[in-house]
Amino acid sequence: MTQVFQKSDVNDSVLAGKTIAVLGYGSQGRAHALNLKESGHNVVLGLREGGPTAKQAAEDGFTPFSFGEAVAQADLVAILTPDMVQAELYENYIAPNLKPGAALLFAHGFNIHFKLIQAPKGTDVVLVAPKGPGGLVRRQYQEGRGVPSLVAVHQDASGFALDKAIAYAHGLGATHAGVLETTFAEETETDLFGEQAVLCGGVTELVKAGYDTLVEAGYQPEIAYFECLHELKLIVDLIYEGGFAKMHQFVSDTAKYGDLTRGPRVVDQHVKKTMRTILTEIQNGSFAQEWAKENQRGLQHYKALQREDLGHPIESVGRQLRARMSWLKPKIEAAS
Ligand code: NAD
Ligand code: MG
Repeated sequence: MTQVFQKSDVNDSVLAGKTIAVLGYGSQGRAHALNLKESGHNVVLGLREGGPTAKQAAEDGFTPFSFGEAVAQADLVAILTPDMVQAELYENYIAPNLKPGAALLFAHGFNIHFKLIQAPKGTDVVLVAPKGPGGLVRRQYQEGRGVPSLVAVHQDASGFALDKAIAYAHGLGATHAGVLETTFAEETETDLFGEQAVLCGGVTELVKAGYDTLVEAGYQPEIAYFECLHELKLIVDLIYEGGFAKMHQFVSDTAKYGDLTRGPRVVDQHVKKTMRTILTEIQNGSFAQEWAKENQRGLQHYKALQREDLGHPIESVGRQLRARMSWLKPKIEAAS
């Protein structure tokens, strides 16, 4: 088993009296800034002037600086803007203002692992990646708990890089839930693979294929929606709470027999082979290159694919059905 760091592993002295600059105030940025501040750290925010999250930051009691001003004061710079704008942010605002010996911290390893950002030699470069969206990181902290987090060290200039990552994760509340050590490579590659093959890409395509199969066979779209999408939550909740075993406890014998005999025919060796190819594209950097190029070209292809995906009939059928599900609205707000 991987070592899990806890409160007793925290070396408080590495961040004591230090200034942490949080750049970006989105999902992760807001949670990190507030949790760290309430944990007693000196947090300064760096934001775009007139940017969309500046108002929220002011409401939360922060007086944001420009990116450059925030970086210039900081002993640790947490880069929490979207991944594809981090390299430009680094060139324009971070590199020119970074104090000698200041550490860089990421919540996802993409830019470091794929060398879109190359930090100077004397800089600690660490990762603290909460395994949950910012809303949950914040809410768990407020309830005196935490979200498990991964930590990693890319460059250890001070000899205390890992200690800094663990102390930062502790400031987020993560030591309540466990802090696991990984590498930038492992975090980046598994994160991309998970979202592509299973979580975002895999699940939506599986749902669509099931829905289309039923509708093309003449079944009502609403019934197909309930069977292939709506009920997914029930199954995922069971698996999340107690693994496959808990799902087995709660579904019928007929469902289990169908699962065991038909599941492997749907997700067969061909799917597994494609997954391996997708993993290779991640590992050899070709996915990262493709995505960076797509960003440089103004995201036209990406936006066209997105329009097509969201134009699928399952989306309009789902909107109409969900409008009647009175319990959904507060839930979605709470999750963000
Ligand atoms: P986000 O999109 O929620 O927020 C980004 C912030 O950056 C906002 O303040 C936004 O106004 C600002 N911003 C957007 N475009 C900008 C630009 N061009 N220049 C400067 N600032 C800009 O981002 P996020 O989801 O919190 O992601 C931040 C980091 O955390 C990423 O590295 C991401 O991979 C990582 N991460 C996210 C999650 C998650 O669940 N969202 C989980 C773990 C790690
Ligand atoms: Mg999809």
